[in-house]
Amino acid sequence: MVNINDFNFAGLKALVRVDFNVPLNENGQITDDTRIRGAVPTLKKILADGGSLILMSHMGKPKGKVNAKLSLGQITDAVAAALGCPVEFAPDCAQAGEAAAKLQPGQVLLLENLRFYPEEEGKPVGIEKDDPAYGEAKKEMKRRQEDFAKTLASYADVYVNDAFGTAHRRHASTAVVADYFDADHKMLGMLMEKEVAAIDNVMRNAQHPFTAIIGGSKVSSKLAVIKNLLDKVDNLIIGGGMGFTFIKAQGGSIGNSLHEDELMPEALNVLAAAKEKGVNLSLSVQTVCAQEFSNDAERQAVDIYHIPDGWEGMDAGEESLKNWKKIILESKTILWNGPVGVFEFENFAHGTGEIAKYVAEATKHGAYSLVGGGDSVAAVGKFGLADQVSYVSTGGGAMLEAIEGKTLPGVAAIKGE
Ligand code: AMP
Repeated sequence: MVNINDFNFAGLKALVRVDFNVPLNENGQITDDTRIRGAVPTLKKILADGGSLILMSHMGKPKGKVNAKLSLGQITDAVAAALGCPVEFAPDCAQAGEAAAKLQPGQVLLLENLRFYPEEEGKPVGIEKDDPAYGEAKKEMKRRQEDFAKTLASYADVYVNDAFGTAHRRHASTAVVADYFDADHKMLGMLMEKEVAAIDNVMRNAQHPFTAIIGGSKVSSKLAVIKNLLDKVDNLIIGGGMGFTFIKAQGGSIGNSLHEDELMPEALNVLAAAKEKGVNLSLSVQTVCAQEFSNDAERQAVDIYHIPDGWEGMDAGEESLKNWKKIILESKTILWNGPVGVFEFENFAHGTGEIAKYVAEATKHGAYSLVGGGDSVAAVGKFGLADQVSYVSTGGGAMLEAIEGKTLPGVAAIKGE
């Protein structure tokens, strides 16, 4: 596989899939430009080599229709400012051949939102999955998706994918387009390289003891992650709202705490599998609970198996944190996804803040730590510790799928896996 750092883009047109899906306010102004800044190193390297750029991205969910509120034209100036050079805008991503052909070295063309075309996502439009004609419609859309990808590919000499956030999707711009470039003319961008390396560091090359901390609200959304991790980790800390399903499944009284009854058998399976595989699965032993879901609710710390009626567990108690601190500080590899309490409420953020501190401390002592998934990223940011962990992953869904053990289509399309 070609490494972007070893490739010389001089005189070449590069089609770069970026993630410019930035949040906008009602006036179309960008409220957080992290994603644009994230792509800059890759883009500047290509320009500095003497290449030209054709940038493509999605924004929001226009569902295959033109939607002015989701036009990438709104961010052209911000991209120009980030790159320090003019950026031309192509108002139709499938009709940009002429504009692309005119590009000179050092010039930049930004294509309109790819998802204005249903071909980008490749899902048949206006037909339900249970319709007998769905199969045919899907085949037809797949063919149209290939044509669309071929059109995009025709603009450039080389393809770069730097959009980790959509790497788990087999879309025209994230995967299919790569089929129209030979192995020497497609590569991962620098941001994507870093994400893939960080995930490989924990999933393939972990130093032991390896500890995963999985929190958040629901077991259902992370069951596949938990199951895959059982084959890799030495310690599995399960905290946050999802922990109560495990406590209830073992006969605990959890009051009004968040839980999923239908997942109790799965929770018991996970506990049994952990035992069989010799994984130290550490659940919370004490919780800080409240009588209502609000920041100002009265609080008390109780044994997690005996939460009084009418109370709900909202944060990890000191006894749980003491156990978890010991495990985390003894770890050589740490993967953290999901808060261990309702950290959005100041009064219930303590446990999550402590976990962030332990992960930072372990990192200082040489552990490799990867933090990922929207809320845990927000948590390390909130406690000012983002630069004290080894890597903070920006791709929530893509990272979860990677730690479920799935191959990411966006990566596979380039690596040829
Ligand atoms: P997830 O998106 O699954 O990672 O879940 C993140 C959400 O879980 C955050 O919004 C937290 O407020 C929530 N959460 C964590 N612990 C609890 C809890 N004990 N009760 C209710 N919600 C929780």
